[in-house]
Amino acid sequence: MIKLFYICTVKKILFAVLLVSVFKSYSQSSDQIKLCFAMQGNSFSTDNMADQALNKILSVTGLSKRFVLAPCSEISNCLAISYKGIRYILFDKEFMKQISSSGSNWTNLSILAHEVGHHINGHTIDVVMYSDEVVDRPDLESFRKMELEADEFSGFVMAKLGASLEQATAAVMIMSNDDDDTYSTHPKRSKRIKSIKAGYANGSTQVIPKKYETVNKRVSVEQIFNMAENKKNQNDYVGAINAYSRAISMKPDYSYAYNNRGFLKYQLKDFRGAISDYSTVIKIDPTYPVPYYNRGLAKSKIKDFNGALIDYNNAIKLKPDYAIAYNNRGNVKFNLKNYRGAIMDYSYAIKFKSKGPSKIFTNRGVSKELIGDLKGACKDWSVAARLGNRNAQKWILEQCK
Ligand SMILES: [Zn+2]
Repeated sequence: MIKLFYICTVKKILFAVLLVSVFKSYSQSSDQIKLCFAMQGNSFSTDNMADQALNKILSVTGLSKRFVLAPCSEISNCLAISYKGIRYILFDKEFMKQISSSGSNWTNLSILAHEVGHHINGHTIDVVMYSDEVVDRPDLESFRKMELEADEFSGFVMAKLGASLEQATAAVMIMSNDDDDTYSTHPKRSKRIKSIKAGYANGSTQVIPKKYETVNKRVSVEQIFNMAENKKNQNDYVGAINAYSRAISMKPDYSYAYNNRGFLKYQLKDFRGAISDYSTVIKIDPTYPVPYYNRGLAKSKIKDFNGALIDYNNAIKLKPDYAIAYNNRGNVKFNLKNYRGAIMDYSYAIKFKSKGPSKIFTNRGVSKELIGDLKGACKDWSVAARLGNRNAQKWILEQCK
């Protein structure tokens, strides 16, 4: 057994991705949001009252519910964010408790509508993208513009829901002032009231404005995939795995992301985790040979040689000149003491010009030795020796005449 050499090159499939080249610092607030998520884990209990209020808002816009309402006590009132590609409206439970299902509390309802407006207008870039410095944070002027757009949407919703203009503007009257807004993310009160009024006028007269129909997807799943690739190239495998997980949460049938995450788990010696990811790839697309090959390799690592054999068989069935798969299947057969089978597979690997020929000749030589064909073994080792294999050179001196 000690003479056997594995070729452990796992092929990786790559996807054409957008190039992300922006790296800038981010403010503290996204950290706080992340902390909030970290504290809560992934199970967000939805406040029923807030949920009803959200449904109400969406009902007048004709939009389907593409948001998750999540309680978060770390924030002062209400916040629209995107996380791992999912749009959330975070709310302080105490604050949102006041939103009654009967809709009598217009002030809070308008605040929630404002947050929905941020999502509708595509303002919410994934916080992960900020914190990973993949995308630029908008400048203050852009922030203020976004606030006005959200206010306009809020005014629109309020009108649709039958609020008076006074009720629609009440929240902004309480929460903002008319100080100079040059250094603020939020515009001054007079500008905000103007935007609410504009939205209110639309809501009173028109059908749903076209701009509310689609939610802008500024951060694509491909960008996150690309981010994962960058992390992998910087040898940050754990970070890359997390990024692939994000891509997967955005696109659950993203087979490339599963495959590459499996590859990284394999590198980190999490062979069972790798097997699980490759299995998902195979489930999504059973016609692609690489994941079978990759899974076979991971199964070999946990000494599931019979399982590995089946995977290599499938890989070779799908790609009959899959040279390195022949080599690895040869190794599996060797481990199962099927030396003749191994010799055949090594021969195919050589025929189809697999990588690492010196190791394959060496392995075939060892297999030949074990079936008593020392002459054949020496012949293979001499080829391997000429290709520079030190062990083969040594064995020739020791065993071959
Ligand atoms: Zn806002």
